[in-house]
Amino acid sequence: MAVVAVVGAQWGDEGKGHIIDILAARAATVIRYGGGNNAGHTVVNRHGTFKLNLVPAGIFEPATVNIVGNGTVVNPKHFIGELDGLIARGIVVENLRISHRAHVVMPYHVEQDRLDELQRGDAKIGTTGRGIGPAYADKTARNGVRIGDLCDVAVLRRVLTPIIATKNRLFAGYYGAETRYDLEALITEYAAYGQRLAPYIGDIYGVVQTALAAKTPMLLEGAQGVMLDIDHGTYPFVTSSMPGIAGACQGAGIAPRALNHVLGVYKAFTSRVGSGPFPSEVSGETADALRQMGKPWAEVGTTTGRLRRVGWFDAVASRYAAQLNGIDRLALTKLDVLDELSEIKICIGYRLDGQIIDHPPTYTEQYDRVEPIYETLPGWLTPTSDVRRWQDLPAHARAYVERVAQLVGAEVSMVSIGPGHDQIIEVLPVL
Ligand code: GDP
Repeated sequence: MAVVAVVGAQWGDEGKGHIIDILAARAATVIRYGGGNNAGHTVVNRHGTFKLNLVPAGIFEPATVNIVGNGTVVNPKHFIGELDGLIARGIVVENLRISHRAHVVMPYHVEQDRLDELQRGDAKIGTTGRGIGPAYADKTARNGVRIGDLCDVAVLRRVLTPIIATKNRLFAGYYGAETRYDLEALITEYAAYGQRLAPYIGDIYGVVQTALAAKTPMLLEGAQGVMLDIDHGTYPFVTSSMPGIAGACQGAGIAPRALNHVLGVYKAFTSRVGSGPFPSEVSGETADALRQMGKPWAEVGTTTGRLRRVGWFDAVASRYAAQLNGIDRLALTKLDVLDELSEIKICIGYRLDGQIIDHPPTYTEQYDRVEPIYETLPGWLTPTSDVRRWQDLPAHARAYVERVAQLVGAEVSMVSIGPGHDQIIEVLPVL
C-alpha cells in the first residue's frame, strides 16, 4: 500500500485540511511532520467543523494511528487545549502518539517572537507570534526542551536550569525587557503538562517502522507551504521549518525511498498571510471575489484571523515547488471560488529587469522588480459545488485545471469544489 506525503505547495492555507481529512480516512497511520500551532487546518466532516493546529487530521478515524512527529514543535498548553476540545466533542483520541523528540514551545519563545518582531519594525516578518521560530532556533542551537523531557522532573530540571538562567540574561540585557522566568514555577507547570500528555508520548520509531513493514497506507501530513520553506522559500519571509518533502522525511523519520507519491495541494488561485513577495497579488474587486468575505471559507487566517492577501495562480512558484519536492500528483482546491469569474488569469512567467524568467528570482529583493506575465483563460460561469465526476465539470473548468497541471508538471489527482467532506472530484487516487 502507498505511503503518501501531502505537502502545501504554495504559501500555506491551500486547503490541506480538507484533502488530508479525505485521505486520512483511508490511512492506517497519519503523521504530522512539522511546524507547530502556527499552522491551522480547517476540517469539515461528519462530526462538524474543526480547526486543528497540531493534532493530525486522521484523529477523526478511531482506528487510525495519529502521530505528532519529531519534526514538530509542541506548545503543550495549547496542545492540551486542542485535545480537550476534541474530547469534549466526542472524538476519541486514544490513538494519538507524540514523538518524545518533538521540541517544546516554551513561554519565553512566545515572548522572544513578540520582541523580535517589534525590533524588526517595518521589516517585520509577520509571524503568527506563537513562538515557533524561536523554538526551532533553540532546537538547532541545542538549547531546546524536548517533549519527552517533561515526563521526568529530574530531567526537566537538568535541562531547564541553564536555559532559564540564559534566557533571563537575554531578556534583561539584549531585549532590555522586564520579563523574567521563575525556574521552579516553570518546572511545576511543565511537569504537569508532561504528566497529562505522558500516555501519548513515546518513541515513534518502532510505530513508524512497523507500519512501513506492514505496508499499511500511510499519510504524511504537511503544514504551511513549500514557498515558506526555510531554505527554498522567500527568505526571510518564511517559516522556521521545512514544510516540504525533506521535512516530511526528517520530521517523521521515514526514508525518501519509502514514499510512493508526493501530493502537492494547490489552491486554484494564490493566497499569502503576512509579509513577503507575492508577484501575482491582486487588489480591488478581483481580490474581493477571490477572498469571499462572509463565507465560511473566506480568506482569513485560521490561526491568526488576519485577512489573507490573494492573487492569481502563480505557475512559476508552483512549478518550482513541484520540482523541488518531487510533486507527482496535485490536488487543486477551491475551484468553486472561480465559478463566477468570466476570465481567469494564470501567472506563467516573471519579467525581471527586461528579461523573462520561468523560475523565482535568486534574491528575495529582486521580487520587488518582478512583473507577472499572465495568460488569460475563459471562466465557466457555472456552479461546480455539486459536481462529483471529472467529466461533469464544465469544459472551461477542466481546461483550466489541465492547464494548471501542465504548467506545474504533475498529474491531477483531486479537485475540490467545496469545503465538505464529499465535495471532491477524484481523478487519480493516491491512496
Ligand atoms: P489549510 O491550512 O491548507 O488546511 O487551509 P485552510 O485551513 O485555510 O482551509 C481553507 C478553507 O477553505 C477552510 O475554511 C476550508 O473548509 C475551505 N475549503 C477547503 N477546500 C475548499 C474548496 O474546495 N472550496 C471551498 N469553497 N472551500 C474549501
